[in-house]
Amino acid sequence: MTPLSPPTAEAAGAPARAASAPAGTRAPAPGALPDAWRDGLARLRKVPGEFFRGTLGVDEAARQLGTDAGTVAALVEAGLPAERGEDGPLLDYHDVANLGLAARQGRSLAELAEARMLRMAAGPREGWLKERTWHVRLAAPCDAPGCPGEVPPVPAPDLLGGTLVDVRPAAGPGGETTATVVTRGTAAEPRTEAVRAVYDGLLAALDDGSHQFGWLPDRLRADPARAAELRMVDCQVAAWIMARDARGAGLAARTRKGYVLGMVGVEHAWTEVLEDGRWLVLDPVLAFLARRHRASNPEFTDFCRGSVHNRLLAWPAASEEPVVAHDCDRGGRCALSCNQVLGGA
Ligand SMILES: [Zn+2]
Repeated sequence: MTPLSPPTAEAAGAPARAASAPAGTRAPAPGALPDAWRDGLARLRKVPGEFFRGTLGVDEAARQLGTDAGTVAALVEAGLPAERGEDGPLLDYHDVANLGLAARQGRSLAELAEARMLRMAAGPREGWLKERTWHVRLAAPCDAPGCPGEVPPVPAPDLLGGTLVDVRPAAGPGGETTATVVTRGTAAEPRTEAVRAVYDGLLAALDDGSHQFGWLPDRLRADPARAAELRMVDCQVAAWIMARDARGAGLAARTRKGYVLGMVGVEHAWTEVLEDGRWLVLDPVLAFLARRHRASNPEFTDFCRGSVHNRLLAWPAASEEPVVAHDCDRGGRCALSCNQVLGGA
């Protein structure tokens, strides 16, 4: 489960149910709702009805939020969307994750996952630039029973100035590809106001909450224009918005997909714009998240405006394209996992 990509629980969760009257009327007697949760709920941009899927029961939602079932029942009473299930209210996975991020109690799984990933922003600048060697293990299993999935793609560290040292491709669908990659950071900054404006504009919108950064259902992130209209943004939608804004300003731009490497690789997406013959990486999402978690020194915000971080591993795909194409005859979904097997951090 990763903070910057859609959670797999959606695909693995219960089948979609027909919309029904909001649950909650039969919830256990709720306790008083603490202010932090009430404020978080007021800030939450909820998953629109057509994308809503009730897959989390109250107990599981409580576990994910780091609170108790009584608080979740009170949240449902107060307007957290739920549908009626056989055993009580069912909540949408993304609403629960985004509520955790909005309420900022520091105990939700979504917050903990973000904080873990954002250790990359801590420390001195040299740590973002030095050469790093990684041994990565890639798999692309399908979540439908009986379907093996796909052969994982080969990573492309060279797209960001790194090197593919060796690779052992999977023997077949569902198998593991192992690779040794070297990544290198590159410091760069925009020379023109037009490029700075693209980055600064989205960063400001994330900071002031006019765009809510969070976890989006697959079907919504697959329609970035709609998500942008709703001001619900994940890294993939953010990459699309910046590419659109850059092109609107007359710049050549492309989106890129890859991983933030750590013990577990976290799927990520960013935008690259062409300036004076060189491609600059624009990643205000990382800068925003680092600030939200107070994980960074101020230098990191500027670093994300043009530089390549040595934990980024690129894939030869635009952010809107699937990393693993999988036309499943069993209706499953294939997600690429990227884990580190040995040292390297
Ligand atoms: Zn499949």
